[in-house]
Amino acid sequence: MNLNTIAEVKRPRSFEEIEWRDGHAFLGGGTWLFSEPQVATDTLVDLERLGWPALTATPAGLEIAATCKIVELHDFKGPPEWRAVPLFDKCIDAFLMSFKIWNAATVAGNVCMSLPAGAMISLTAALEGVCTLWPQDGKPRQVPVVDFVTGVHTNVLQKGELLRSILLPAKALSKRFAMRQMSLTRHGRSAALIIATVGDGDEDFLLTISASTPRPVHLRFKKTPLAAEMCQAIDERLPPDAWFQDVHGSAPYKRHVTHYLAEQIRAELS
Ligand SMILES: Cc1cc2nc3c(=O)[nH]c(=O)nc-3n(C[C@H](O)[C@H](O)[C@H](O)COP(=O)(O)OP(=O)(O)OC[C@H]3O[C@@H](n4cnc5c(N)ncnc54)[C@H](O)[C@@H]3O)c2cc1C
Repeated sequence: MNLNTIAEVKRPRSFEEIEWRDGHAFLGGGTWLFSEPQVATDTLVDLERLGWPALTATPAGLEIAATCKIVELHDFKGPPEWRAVPLFDKCIDAFLMSFKIWNAATVAGNVCMSLPAGAMISLTAALEGVCTLWPQDGKPRQVPVVDFVTGVHTNVLQKGELLRSILLPAKALSKRFAMRQMSLTRHGRSAALIIATVGDGDEDFLLTISASTPRPVHLRFKKTPLAAEMCQAIDERLPPDAWFQDVHGSAPYKRHVTHYLAEQIRAELS
Protein backbone atom coordinates (compact mmCIF):
# COMPACT_ATOMS: atom_id res chain seq x y z
CA MET A 1 0.00 0.00 0.00
CA ASN A 2 1.20 3.55 -0.78
CA LEU A 3 1.32 5.55 2.43
CA ASN A 4 0.28 9.02 1.29
CA THR A 5 0.88 10.63 4.70
CA ILE A 6 4.62 9.89 4.57
CA ALA A 7 6.67 12.94 3.63
CA GLU A 8 10.14 11.58 4.45
CA VAL A 9 12.01 8.32 4.94
CA LYS A 10 15.13 8.75 7.08
CA ARG A 11 17.94 6.22 6.81
CA PRO A 12 20.22 6.92 9.79
CA ARG A 13 23.59 5.20 10.15
CA SER A 14 23.61 5.58 13.93
CA PHE A 15 20.97 5.82 16.65
CA GLU A 16 22.35 9.24 17.70
CA GLU A 17 21.42 10.65 14.28
CA ILE A 18 17.71 10.12 15.00
CA GLU A 19 15.97 13.27 16.21
CA TRP A 20 12.69 11.80 17.34
CA ARG A 21 9.41 13.72 17.27
CA ASP A 22 5.70 12.85 17.09
CA GLY A 23 4.84 11.52 13.63
CA HIS A 24 8.00 9.37 13.40
CA ALA A 25 7.78 5.57 13.24
CA PHE A 26 10.57 2.99 13.12
CA LEU A 27 10.54 0.93 9.95
CA GLY A 28 11.52 -2.75 10.32
CA GLY A 29 10.44 -4.93 7.40
CA GLY A 30 7.42 -2.69 6.76
CA THR A 31 5.05 -5.65 6.31
CA TRP A 32 2.59 -4.27 8.84
CA LEU A 33 3.37 -0.57 8.37
CA PHE A 34 2.58 -0.81 4.65
CA SER A 35 -0.48 -3.01 5.17
CA GLU A 36 -2.80 -0.27 6.45
CA PRO A 37 -3.06 3.56 6.47
CA GLN A 38 -0.72 5.25 8.97
CA VAL A 39 -2.54 8.54 9.40
CA ALA A 40 -0.55 9.61 12.47
CA THR A 41 2.82 9.01 10.79
CA ASP A 42 4.65 11.41 8.44
CA THR A 43 8.23 10.10 8.72
CA LEU A 44 9.63 6.58 8.63
CA VAL A 45 12.97 5.88 10.31
CA ASP A 46 14.41 2.92 8.42
CA LEU A 47 16.57 0.74 10.69
CA GLU A 48 18.29 -1.23 7.94
CA ARG A 49 21.34 1.02 7.47
CA LEU A 50 22.23 0.85 11.15
CA GLY A 51 24.07 -2.24 9.94
CA TRP A 52 23.68 -4.51 12.95
CA PRO A 53 24.74 -8.15 12.47
CA ALA A 54 21.54 -10.20 12.41
CA LEU A 55 22.68 -12.97 14.78
CA THR A 56 25.64 -13.05 17.16
CA ALA A 57 26.38 -16.30 19.02
CA THR A 58 28.60 -15.99 22.12
CA PRO A 59 29.10 -18.17 25.23
CA ALA A 60 26.38 -16.03 26.86
CA GLY A 61 23.82 -16.96 24.23
CA LEU A 62 22.37 -15.75 20.95
CA GLU A 63 21.85 -12.06 20.35
CA ILE A 64 19.13 -11.40 17.78
CA ALA A 65 19.37 -7.89 16.33
CA ALA A 66 16.14 -5.96 15.90
CA THR A 67 16.68 -6.00 12.15
CA CYS A 68 17.19 -9.80 11.93
CA LYS A 69 14.76 -11.09 9.31
CA ILE A 70 12.57 -14.16 9.90
CA VAL A 71 14.40 -15.94 7.07
CA GLU A 72 17.80 -15.27 8.72
CA LEU A 73 16.60 -16.78 11.98
CA HIS A 74 15.29 -19.75 10.03
CA ASP A 75 18.75 -20.34 8.50
CA PHE A 76 20.60 -20.22 11.85
CA LYS A 77 22.49 -23.37 12.85
CA GLY A 78 23.62 -23.38 16.49
CA PRO A 79 26.18 -25.50 18.28
CA PRO A 80 24.91 -29.02 19.14
CA GLU A 81 24.61 -28.20 22.85
CA TRP A 82 21.92 -25.62 22.02
CA ARG A 83 19.20 -28.24 21.84
CA ALA A 84 16.39 -25.70 21.57
CA VAL A 85 17.48 -24.22 18.21
CA PRO A 86 15.03 -26.46 16.21
CA LEU A 87 12.27 -24.58 18.04
CA PHE A 88 13.09 -21.54 15.85
CA ASP A 89 11.73 -23.26 12.74
CA LYS A 90 8.73 -24.69 14.54
CA CYS A 91 7.68 -21.22 15.68
CA ILE A 92 8.40 -19.70 12.28
CA ASP A 93 6.14 -22.35 10.71
CA ALA A 94 3.40 -21.42 13.20
CA PHE A 95 3.46 -17.88 11.84
CA LEU A 96 0.72 -17.31 9.28
CA MET A 97 3.09 -16.08 6.61
CA SER A 98 3.20 -14.87 3.08
CA PHE A 99 6.40 -14.91 1.00
CA LYS A 100 6.80 -11.20 1.78
CA ILE A 101 6.62 -11.68 5.55
CA TRP A 102 9.10 -14.57 5.42
CA ASN A 103 11.72 -12.48 3.57
CA ALA A 104 11.05 -8.97 4.83
CA ALA A 105 9.56 -9.06 8.34
CA THR A 106 11.95 -8.65 11.24
CA VAL A 107 11.96 -10.39 14.60
CA ALA A 108 11.65 -7.03 16.40
CA GLY A 109 8.81 -5.91 14.12
CA ASN A 110 6.82 -8.97 15.17
CA VAL A 111 7.61 -8.51 18.86
CA CYS A 112 6.79 -4.77 18.73
CA MET A 113 3.46 -5.51 17.05
CA SER A 114 2.66 -7.32 20.30
CA LEU A 115 -0.17 -9.41 18.88
CA PRO A 116 -1.25 -12.51 20.85
CA ALA A 117 -0.38 -14.75 17.86
CA GLY A 118 3.09 -13.20 17.47
CA ALA A 119 5.15 -16.34 16.94
CA MET A 120 8.43 -14.51 17.58
CA ILE A 121 7.01 -13.44 20.94
CA SER A 122 6.17 -17.07 21.77
CA LEU A 123 9.64 -18.22 20.73
CA THR A 124 11.67 -15.57 22.50
CA ALA A 125 9.50 -15.66 25.64
CA ALA A 126 9.82 -19.46 25.88
CA LEU A 127 13.60 -19.21 25.53
CA GLU A 128 13.72 -16.63 28.32
CA GLY A 129 14.77 -13.82 25.97
CA VAL A 130 15.74 -10.45 27.34
CA CYS A 131 15.11 -7.29 25.27
CA THR A 132 17.57 -4.44 25.18
CA LEU A 133 15.69 -1.18 24.73
CA TRP A 134 17.24 2.12 23.71
CA PRO A 135 15.23 5.09 24.98
CA GLN A 136 15.60 8.46 23.24
CA ASP A 137 16.98 10.00 26.44
CA GLY A 138 18.55 7.84 29.06
CA LYS A 139 20.48 4.63 29.41
CA PRO A 140 19.61 1.36 27.65
CA ARG A 141 17.38 -0.88 29.73
CA GLN A 142 16.69 -4.62 29.79
CA VAL A 143 13.20 -6.14 29.91
CA PRO A 144 12.37 -9.88 29.69
CA VAL A 145 10.27 -10.62 26.58
CA VAL A 146 7.54 -12.09 28.79
CA ASP A 147 7.16 -8.64 30.44
CA PHE A 148 7.68 -6.61 27.24
CA VAL A 149 4.20 -7.35 25.88
CA THR A 150 1.58 -5.90 28.21
CA GLY A 151 -1.62 -6.73 26.28
CA VAL A 152 -3.17 -6.95 22.82
CA HIS A 153 -1.02 -4.65 20.64
CA THR A 154 0.50 -2.91 23.70
CA ASN A 155 3.99 -3.09 25.18
CA VAL A 156 6.41 -1.27 27.47
CA LEU A 157 8.04 0.85 24.72
CA GLN A 158 8.05 4.56 25.50
CA LYS A 159 7.80 7.24 22.79
CA GLY A 160 10.74 6.89 20.40
CA GLU A 161 12.19 3.94 22.29
CA LEU A 162 13.87 1.34 20.10
CA LEU A 163 13.96 -2.42 20.61
CA ARG A 164 17.64 -2.93 19.79
CA SER A 165 18.05 -6.69 20.32
CA ILE A 166 16.91 -9.81 22.13
CA LEU A 167 19.35 -12.07 23.95
CA LEU A 168 18.43 -15.75 24.25
CA PRO A 169 20.56 -17.04 27.15
CA ALA A 170 22.74 -20.10 26.47
CA LYS A 171 21.20 -21.87 29.47
CA ALA A 172 17.70 -21.64 27.98
CA LEU A 173 18.98 -22.63 24.52
CA SER A 174 20.50 -25.79 26.05
CA LYS A 175 17.21 -27.09 27.45
CA ARG A 176 14.99 -29.76 25.88
CA PHE A 177 11.71 -28.44 24.51
CA ALA A 178 8.30 -29.47 23.25
CA MET A 179 5.84 -27.28 21.37
CA ARG A 180 2.25 -27.50 20.13
CA GLN A 181 0.15 -25.08 18.13
CA MET A 182 -3.54 -25.07 17.23
CA SER A 183 -5.56 -22.99 14.79
CA LEU A 184 -9.30 -23.06 14.16
CA THR A 185 -8.62 -23.23 10.42
CA ARG A 186 -5.90 -25.15 8.57
CA HIS A 187 -3.62 -22.18 7.79
CA GLY A 188 -5.22 -19.85 10.32
CA ARG A 189 -3.69 -17.64 12.93
CA SER A 190 -2.66 -19.48 16.13
CA ALA A 191 -5.43 -19.94 18.67
CA ALA A 192 -2.89 -21.42 21.11
CA LEU A 193 0.88 -21.78 20.91
CA ILE A 194 2.27 -23.64 23.90
CA ILE A 195 5.94 -24.37 24.58
CA ALA A 196 7.72 -26.02 27.49
CA THR A 197 11.45 -26.28 28.16
CA VAL A 198 13.20 -28.43 30.74
CA GLY A 199 16.80 -28.72 31.90
CA ASP A 200 18.86 -31.83 32.59
CA GLY A 201 17.67 -33.97 35.49
CA ASP A 202 14.10 -32.88 34.82
CA GLU A 203 14.82 -29.54 36.47
CA ASP A 204 13.46 -26.06 35.77
CA PHE A 205 10.33 -26.90 33.76
CA LEU A 206 9.05 -23.71 32.13
CA LEU A 207 5.64 -23.65 30.47
CA THR A 208 4.96 -20.70 28.14
CA ILE A 209 1.35 -20.12 27.16
CA SER A 210 0.75 -17.76 24.23
CA ALA A 211 -1.80 -16.88 21.53
CA SER A 212 -4.65 -18.13 23.76
CA THR A 213 -3.90 -15.27 26.17
CA PRO A 214 -3.52 -11.54 25.37
CA ARG A 215 0.16 -11.67 26.40
CA PRO A 216 2.60 -14.55 27.01
CA VAL A 217 2.40 -16.26 30.39
CA HIS A 218 5.16 -18.20 32.16
CA LEU A 219 4.53 -21.00 34.66
CA ARG A 220 7.77 -22.26 36.21
CA PHE A 221 8.18 -25.50 38.16
CA LYS A 222 11.32 -26.80 39.91
CA LYS A 223 10.75 -30.24 38.35
CA THR A 224 8.46 -31.47 35.58
CA PRO A 225 5.06 -31.30 37.30
CA LEU A 226 2.42 -34.01 37.52
CA ALA A 227 -0.61 -33.52 35.26
CA ALA A 228 -2.92 -32.42 38.07
CA GLU A 229 -0.33 -30.00 39.48
CA MET A 230 0.16 -28.30 36.12
CA CYS A 231 -3.58 -28.18 35.43
CA GLN A 232 -4.20 -26.51 38.78
CA ALA A 233 -1.37 -24.02 38.22
CA ILE A 234 -2.85 -23.00 34.84
CA ASP A 235 -6.31 -22.46 36.34
CA GLU A 236 -4.93 -20.51 39.29
CA ARG A 237 -2.91 -18.23 37.06
CA LEU A 238 -5.52 -17.83 34.33
CA PRO A 239 -9.11 -17.32 35.57
CA PRO A 240 -11.95 -17.49 32.98
CA ASP A 241 -11.63 -13.79 32.04
CA ALA A 242 -7.86 -14.06 31.37
CA TRP A 243 -8.23 -15.84 28.01
CA PHE A 244 -8.11 -14.03 24.68
CA GLN A 245 -11.35 -14.19 22.73
CA ASP A 246 -11.47 -13.26 19.03
CA VAL A 247 -12.55 -14.62 15.64
CA HIS A 248 -9.86 -17.29 16.00
CA GLY A 249 -11.64 -18.86 18.96
CA SER A 250 -13.77 -18.25 22.04
CA ALA A 251 -12.21 -17.96 25.48
CA PRO A 252 -13.53 -21.39 26.65
CA TYR A 253 -12.15 -23.00 23.46
CA LYS A 254 -8.74 -21.44 24.01
CA ARG A 255 -8.68 -22.50 27.65
CA HIS A 256 -9.61 -26.05 26.66
CA VAL A 257 -7.00 -26.24 23.88
CA THR A 258 -4.30 -24.81 26.16
CA HIS A 259 -4.92 -27.50 28.81
CA TYR A 260 -5.01 -30.20 26.13
CA LEU A 261 -1.75 -29.15 24.46
CA ALA A 262 0.07 -28.39 27.71
CA GLU A 263 -0.64 -31.93 28.92
CA GLN A 264 0.70 -33.40 25.66
CA ILE A 265 3.89 -31.39 26.08
CA ARG A 266 4.26 -32.31 29.75
CA ALA A 267 3.89 -36.01 28.92
CA GLU A 268 6.37 -35.71 26.03
CA LEU A 269 9.03 -34.14 28.25
CA SER A 270 8.42 -36.45 31.24
C1 LIG B 1 -0.33 -11.64 5.45
C2 LIG B 1 0.02 -11.31 6.88
C3 LIG B 1 -0.04 -12.35 7.83
C4 LIG B 1 0.32 -12.08 9.19
N1 LIG B 1 0.24 -13.10 10.10
C5 LIG B 1 0.61 -12.86 11.37
C6 LIG B 1 0.59 -13.89 12.37
O1 LIG B 1 0.21 -15.02 12.12
N2 LIG B 1 1.01 -13.57 13.61
C7 LIG B 1 1.44 -12.31 13.91
O2 LIG B 1 1.84 -12.02 15.04
N3 LIG B 1 1.43 -11.34 13.01
C8 LIG B 1 1.04 -11.56 11.77
N4 LIG B 1 1.06 -10.53 10.85
C9 LIG B 1 1.50 -9.20 11.28
C10 LIG B 1 2.98 -9.30 11.51
O3 LIG B 1 3.15 -9.27 12.92
C11 LIG B 1 3.77 -8.19 10.94
O4 LIG B 1 3.50 -7.98 9.57
C12 LIG B 1 5.28 -8.40 11.06
O5 LIG B 1 5.64 -9.25 12.09
C13 LIG B 1 5.89 -7.06 11.34
O6 LIG B 1 7.29 -7.13 11.13
P1 LIG B 1 8.00 -5.99 10.30
O7 LIG B 1 9.47 -6.14 10.52
O8 LIG B 1 7.54 -5.99 8.88
O9 LIG B 1 7.50 -4.70 11.09
P2 LIG B 1 7.06 -3.27 10.57
O10 LIG B 1 5.82 -3.34 9.74
O11 LIG B 1 8.24 -2.57 9.97
O12 LIG B 1 6.76 -2.58 11.99
C14 LIG B 1 5.74 -3.08 12.84
C15 LIG B 1 5.61 -2.12 14.05
O13 LIG B 1 6.75 -2.26 14.91
C16 LIG B 1 7.48 -1.03 15.02
N5 LIG B 1 8.89 -1.42 15.04
C17 LIG B 1 9.55 -2.19 14.12
N6 LIG B 1 10.81 -2.42 14.54
C18 LIG B 1 10.96 -1.77 15.74
C19 LIG B 1 12.03 -1.66 16.67
N7 LIG B 1 13.22 -2.26 16.47
N8 LIG B 1 11.85 -0.94 17.80
C20 LIG B 1 10.65 -0.33 18.03
N9 LIG B 1 9.59 -0.42 17.19
C21 LIG B 1 9.75 -1.13 16.06
C22 LIG B 1 7.05 -0.21 13.82
O14 LIG B 1 7.18 1.18 14.04
C23 LIG B 1 5.59 -0.64 13.67
O15 LIG B 1 4.78 0.04 14.61
C24 LIG B 1 0.72 -10.77 9.54
C25 LIG B 1 0.78 -9.75 8.59
C26 LIG B 1 0.43 -10.00 7.27
C27 LIG B 1 0.50 -8.85 6.28
